Parts: sequence; C-alpha cells; structure tokens
Amino acid sequence: MPTSQQLSLNTATVKKQWNLRQAIEGCARHNIGGISPWRDILQECGASEARKMIDDNGLKVSGLCRGGMFTAQGSLTSAVLDDNKLAVDEAVTIGAQCLVMVVGGLIEGSKDLASAHAMVEEGLAKTVEYARTVNMPIAIEPLHPMYAADRACVNSLGHALDICDRIGAGVGVAVDVYHLWWDTQLEAQIKRAGKDRLLAFHVCDWLKNTNDFLLDRGMMGDGVIDIPLIRSWVEREGFTGLNEVEIFSADNWWTKDADEVLKTMVDRGKTAV
Ligand code: ZN
Repeated sequence: MPTSQQLSLNTATVKKQWNLRQAIEGCARHNIGGISPWRDILQECGASEARKMIDDNGLKVSGLCRGGMFTAQGSLTSAVLDDNKLAVDEAVTIGAQCLVMVVGGLIEGSKDLASAHAMVEEGLAKTVEYARTVNMPIAIEPLHPMYAADRACVNSLGHALDICDRIGAGVGVAVDVYHLWWDTQLEAQIKRAGKDRLLAFHVCDWLKNTNDFLLDRGMMGDGVIDIPLIRSWVEREGFTGLNEVEIFSADNWWTKDADEVLKTMVDRGKTAV
C-alpha cells in the first residue's frame, strides 16, 4: 500500500477549502509526496511562483489538470489550440510529469459523435506536436461514458490508446479508477499501454449510492472499486508514479476541514489504495 510519500494531492480534492499555497503547505505538513494543480488555481499566483512554492516544499508534480476541451468552440479554433499550448508551457514551468487532457464532448447542438472524435484527435495531434518540442508528455484521460456529451468523448482506455497509436511519440494516458473501473478490458488495456504510456494514476472511489455523477466521488475505501487490484495492474507494467487523489465531493469532503481530508487520504492510502 502506498505511503504518504507515494501519494499526490490533486487540488480539486480541497478546492473549496484551500488556495494553492495552502494546498502545497498542507502536503508538506502531511508528508504527501506530490501535488497536481488545476490551472484555475495555478492562475491565482502564476506558474513561476507556483514552481517556487512547490520546490521550496520538496513536492513532485504528478500532473497539471487540464488541457483539452477541443470541441468547446464548435471548431478547432486557434484560441483553443493556443490555450492548449499555454497549458503545455505551464506544465513545463511547474515541472509537471504530464499535462492531463480532458478532451471535450459533443460539439454544441450536434449529435455527430464521429465528428467530435475527429476534432478531438486533430486537436490532440497538434498539441502533442508542440509538446514534443518542449518534452512535455500529454496524458489523455478517458472519462466515464456518462460524460461523453459534455466533457470527454474518449471514454475507454482502449479508445485513448487507439489515438495514442495513431499520434505516436509524446502521448499516453491517465488512468483514473473512477472513470475506468467498470471496463472488462481494463486489465488488458493497461497491459497494452505499457510503462511508457502510463503517465498518471488517479484514485478516489465510486460510491454505490452516489447522489451526483460529478460532485459525489468517494474517499478511497468508501466505495466499490478494487483500487489495489487496479494499482497492481498499473505497477506490473512498471508505473512508478504517484497515486494522485482526486475527489470532487460537494456535500462531504469539500465541507470538511482540509487537514482532516489530507489525514484521511494518507490513512486510506495505507489501507485502501
Ligand atoms: Zn482524474
């Protein structure tokens, strides 16, 4: 089971309680090995200042969340592509191990899933082309199919890896147990990904009686996902990155004292991850 040093705090887990400085200092206080900021929280202080705070506290950066949303403007505009380049640059500045991509859902007003897939793939290819020049790995995060319309139309590890195969070097995947635990092909697709393309591992839990499909993720151990099993598949391929804890929880964990959240996260790391 992971020690606290093998965990990373995705800042979404404490987004209602802490700004970036507080999250970084909280990680140091709880001996957590890394952090993964969201871009909005990074903007508060700027990427350079964030890098300094992160380094001063001896943290790794398991990823930057997030780039993507290639379908948001109905076509692959230069604004969308430029924002993704900026995200790549920010990831470089903070020393992130990868830039995580939530690729975007259906084009507004459209039912044409194939066109959304094509736009996403083109946007990814163009972003990867730039990211290669600055050595920033791009991690496609497949989301649960319930988000196909509004957030991400890449919904399985298999689909993400098909895209990786076509784009080539510089792109891999983020495996988030919340999004992928149900997939009968998960073990095989993790094997197919292999060490070089397994760029991030996100953990939380699926609550059996979840009351919200976006904002009611569970703490590891409170739900139905066999996280240690999935972690064993990832590590069997040679993944040595941090176990990034990403919990959106409007009615529960976001209402609690953030130090209690981090303490629980460390405790559960030892028993349920
Ligand atoms: Zn995730």
